[in-house]
Amino acid sequence: MSNRILVTRSSMPELDEYIDEIKELWDSHWLTNMGIKHKELQKKLVEYLGVEHIDLLTNGHMALELTLQAMNLSGEVITTPFTFASTTHAIVRNGLKPVFCDINPIDFTMDLKKLESLINDKTTAIVPVHVYGNICNIEEIQRIANKYELKVIYDAAHTFGETYKGKGIGSFGDASCFSFHATKVFNTIEGGAVCYSNPELGERIYNLKNFGIRGAEIVESVGANAKMNEFQAAMGICNLRHIEEEIQKRKKVSDRYRKHLSNIEGIQLNPINEDVQSNYAYFPVIFDEKVFGFSRNEIAERLEKNGIFTRKYFYPLTNTFDCFHGQYDVNETPVALYISKRVLTLPMYADLSLENVDRICDIILNE
Ligand SMILES: *Cc1c(COP(=O)(O)O)cnc(C)c1O
Repeated sequence: MSNRILVTRSSMPELDEYIDEIKELWDSHWLTNMGIKHKELQKKLVEYLGVEHIDLLTNGHMALELTLQAMNLSGEVITTPFTFASTTHAIVRNGLKPVFCDINPIDFTMDLKKLESLINDKTTAIVPVHVYGNICNIEEIQRIANKYELKVIYDAAHTFGETYKGKGIGSFGDASCFSFHATKVFNTIEGGAVCYSNPELGERIYNLKNFGIRGAEIVESVGANAKMNEFQAAMGICNLRHIEEEIQKRKKVSDRYRKHLSNIEGIQLNPINEDVQSNYAYFPVIFDEKVFGFSRNEIAERLEKNGIFTRKYFYPLTNTFDCFHGQYDVNETPVALYISKRVLTLPMYADLSLENVDRICDIILNE
C-alpha cells in the first residue's frame, strides 16, 4: 500500500554520499576496531553535542549497560517505568535492583517530589530518562544525588542534539547515554554513545567495549565487545551533515500538529520548555476519553483503518513486563500507569508531509 504512513521512517543520506564515505574502506580493508571513520565521528560528535568526552558503541543499550557496569554499582538503582525496555534491562542485567519512581503528569520525566522517599542505604544510582526529549529537572536531580552521594546516569536516547540553557544535554550527570538506532533523530543504523567527564570512567567503558585489550599483548580487564564498526560510523558522518535540516523539518511537522491539536479539550500535548532547544523526536498525545469522547485505543484503530500506524509509547510500563511477573507493584507508579494507558505517539519524521499531518489530525478530530 503506497499511502501507508508508519510512525517513523529512518533518515538516510543520498546513496552516492554514503558510497563516497565508505570507498576508503575498500582501500584500507579496515572495517572495525576504532578505524578512521570511528575516530572522525567521535571527534565531530564531541563538537556537535558540546560534551567533554564521548565513546561510540554498537548500540544505545550497550552504552547504558556497560556504563552502569563501569561504575561498579551495587544494590538499588532508581529509575522510571515509562521508558523503553532497554533502561530497565540495563539495570537488571547488571545484577542491580530497579526501584521505580513515578513520573510527573506534565512532561513524563521522573517526579522528583517522589524521588527522595525511595532512597535508602542500598541506593547507589539514579537513571532518569529524558523521555520524548523532555529534559528532566537536572538541577534538582543533581542536588539530591549530591546529598546522598549517588551516581546519575541519564538515558538520553531521545535527546540527540538538544541543549539545556545553552549546554549540550550530554554534559550533565556522571554520564549520558545516546541511541543512534535507525528510528532515532540521528542514526548510525544501529549505534550508541556515552558522554562523560571523568576520564577514568571512560577508560573502564572502553575496556568493557573492547575485551579489556590495551595493547597487542595486554589484556587489562574482563570486557565484552560493543565496538561501533566503520560502516556504522560512516553512516553517522553522512547523517550528521544533514542533522540541522533534519531537525528543522521535524519542527515543521511538530508545529503543524500543534496548530491542529493545541487547545482541544481532552487532548494533552508535550509541554514546550523555553530552556531547551528541542529535537522534535516524538509527537506524543494523551487522550482523556472522558473529555475527548474517544479512547487512545479507539483513535489508534481509527488511524490504522486509514493506513496510519501509531505506537503506544510507552505502553506497557516496564514494571509490568511479563519477564518481571510479580516482582514490582505497578500501583506504586500511578501517574505512569495513567499516562501509559492514554498516550499515543503520532507519526513523526523529517519527510512526513504537512498534508499528511493535516490528514492525520482530521481523522483524529473529525471522523
Ligand atoms: C532506543 C532507546 C534505547 C536503546 O537504544 P538502542 O540503540 O536501540 O539499543 C534506550 N532507551 C530509550 C529510552 C530508547 O528509546
